[in-house]
This record gives sequence, C-alpha cells and structure tokens, in this order.
Amino acid sequence: MGSVNALAKSDFPLLRRSVNGQRLCYLDSAATTPMPQAIGEKLQTFYAQSYSSVHRSVNSLGLETTNAYEHARSKVAKFINADPAEVIFTSGATASLNLVAESWGRENIHQGDEIVLAVSEHHSNFLPWQQLAQAVGAKLRLIKLNDQEELDLIQAKSLFNEKTKLLALAQVSNVLGSENPVAELISMAHQVGAICVIDGAQAIPHERIDVRQMDCDFYAFSGHKMLGPTGIGVLYGKKALLEQMPPAHFGGGMINYLDHGQATWEAVPEKFEAGTPNTVGAIGLGYAIDYLNKIGFKNIEQHNQELMNYLLPKLAANPGVKIYGQGQKLGVVSFNLAGIHPHDAATLFDQFGVEVRAGHHCALPLMQELGIPASIRASFYIYNDQADCDRLLEAIKQTQEFFN
Ligand code: PLP
Repeated sequence: MGSVNALAKSDFPLLRRSVNGQRLCYLDSAATTPMPQAIGEKLQTFYAQSYSSVHRSVNSLGLETTNAYEHARSKVAKFINADPAEVIFTSGATASLNLVAESWGRENIHQGDEIVLAVSEHHSNFLPWQQLAQAVGAKLRLIKLNDQEELDLIQAKSLFNEKTKLLALAQVSNVLGSENPVAELISMAHQVGAICVIDGAQAIPHERIDVRQMDCDFYAFSGHKMLGPTGIGVLYGKKALLEQMPPAHFGGGMINYLDHGQATWEAVPEKFEAGTPNTVGAIGLGYAIDYLNKIGFKNIEQHNQELMNYLLPKLAANPGVKIYGQGQKLGVVSFNLAGIHPHDAATLFDQFGVEVRAGHHCALPLMQELGIPASIRASFYIYNDQADCDRLLEAIKQTQEFFN
C-alpha cells in the first residue's frame, strides 16, 4: 500500500506550530477542527468592510450584512438539501437539540409518552430528553450495544410502540466513531408515528448529508467541527413541523406584531432566531461549506478510509490496546491501554506533541455501558496523514514502555 497523504495540510497555519518542542500532531478534530487560513482572512475582510447589524438597518452596511447572512443560510440549505426556511442558525448542536426539546418536546410529549435514544448519545442529545421526560412524566428507553459494541438493532426494535413520540439519535458516535443504522431506526420510529431528531455533529464533516433522503424530522450540527468558527450551529427542521412549533426564545427580530396584550410571530426561520444572531459565525460556516465542497466529499471519504485502513490493523495488533466499537470508523478511534489511565496516557502523548482527548467524552451513559470510566480518543481529518498515524503508534509504544 502506498503512503496516505493529507488532503490539505498547508492550508492550516495551526498545524505548523509545535507543542512541547515537537511538531504538532493534531488528533482532536472530533472536539474542534482548526480553521483554514483563507477562511480566517475572509472573515477579517468582512469585519473590516461590512460588519454591521443584521435584519434591522436599511443602511448600506446593514443590507450587506443581511445579504451575507442570508446567503450563508442558502449555502447551508443547499449543502444539506433543505429549503432556506428550514435552516435555523443556533449557537451549536447543543443549542439546536435543546431548541427541539424546549419547543416541539414541550408541546408534544406528555405523561406516559416514551422517548427512544441510544445509550451512546452525547450529553447534548441525552440531557435535553432526560430533563424533558422528568418534567412531564415521560419515559426514556435506551438502545443498547450488541457484542460488537455497536447499536443493537434487534433490541431497538422492541423499544418502539404506540407510546413512542420521539427518536433522538447521533448519526455518528463521538466515541465509537461508527455510523449508526440511522435509516433503519428512522423507519422504525416513523412506523409508530414518532419524529426523529438526528445529531449530525460528528457526521457532517465526513460525509455528504441529504436530510430529505434521510427523512429525518430534525438535524443538528455545529460549525466548529467542520472547519468553521465556534458559536455557530444549525437546526434543520421539516418546514411543516417548524411552522406548528412555538418559539422557545423571545426577543428582537422574531415578532410579526406586538402590543401590550399580545404578540404574533415572524415566519420560520426568524421565529426561532430571537436577538442579534451570530452573523460572522454564519458567514464563516458558509465559507467552510465552500471549502469542503471544493475538497469534495468523495475525496474526504476515501482519505478517511485510507487512514483507518492504515491505522486500525496496527493498533489492533498491539495486545495492550483495547479499541471500542468494531464498526467502520469515521475519523474517530477510542481505545485504552492496559494498566494505564487514559489521562496519564494523554498527558504523556502531549509531551510527544500528539494531541488526543482523554475522558468520558460527554458520553457517561456509554462509558457505564462499556464498563470503563474513560477512554483515549484520537480523531482524524483531512489534514492528517500516515505520519500522524505513525506518531500516535510511537506515542503509544513509548507510553507502554514508560508505565509497564
Ligand atoms: N453531539 C455530538 C455527537 C458531539 O460530538 C458534540 C460535541 O462534541 C455535540 C453534540 C455538541 O456540540 P457543541 O458542543 O458544538 O454544541
């Protein structure tokens, strides 16, 4: 096999720095991706030349900002095959998921109803449903793992019934790295009349998403995991659902009419964007989409496959390494080293310039299911290459020698 090259490395100035005297080996992209230099520069130009208030001012700068913000919304819509009215800008996937719970959930989930979610959900797609269920007297039903440490479809089937109102599911687990059987589970949920909320935070950087083809009812993701800025995210919702839902937040920009006694709301998406939104974040997300489209998802998927094909057999061949989840990995590999605490390992990796994450990864129910307190997570993206895999493998070897 030939060597696995990065798709783009020189575009990312962050990757040229060093850590603890070593060239940075960045393996924490599932947390946050660095930003291409060109996107930072474009945002600087926007700040310098157009930055102004959105949706409020008829002056030239206000119009330029509004146009740029709405243009970003159209780019997002096209990117996921939605209508621009179905794209709500939020502060991130967490805010998007909470918005569905606060608005659709409060209106439609009642005592005795059931919510199905995977035991592997990130806290952002677990807590909003747990808290809602506790508040209204609904019940959570968890999809567990099978022997391969992937979601158990057979057990999942037994969870859906006429009481099920909602399925909350990550498309890709931020710990196991595997793609969940989204199509099958959406179909099970729809068969009993439940709606489906898909957390796409870890899927959207890696594969082309088509929300219509997926037939999810809601889809959530964040800009900072797909080369965009922090503080910006998206909630996609089917228009018919969004139109029926009450706003969850109240303030400027979301009313159609207001007097002392009553208020009526703007149409979607404005109904859900109270207050001044993160215009620069949305515009930056639009630039990130341009960048990803230029690289192309075919290339992104192939590159991931090559990296995983190189790394995983070498990792698995080390008898002191336990990898979690036996499915295909979308850039994310979680593992532990026998007899070594993951935080100790990650601290030593850092001395070698290898930046991974150690901890529960905001997935405590999954850690409990796996019977571990924490794991090491190495996550890869378009700028990683074979040398990064080798750096990780060498850091593991040195750490095992140091502790054992
Ligand atoms: N869902 C998953 C699967 C994630 O990995 C994350 C972030 O790590 C989130 C949701 C929350 O994203 P954010 O913190 O950007 O709101």
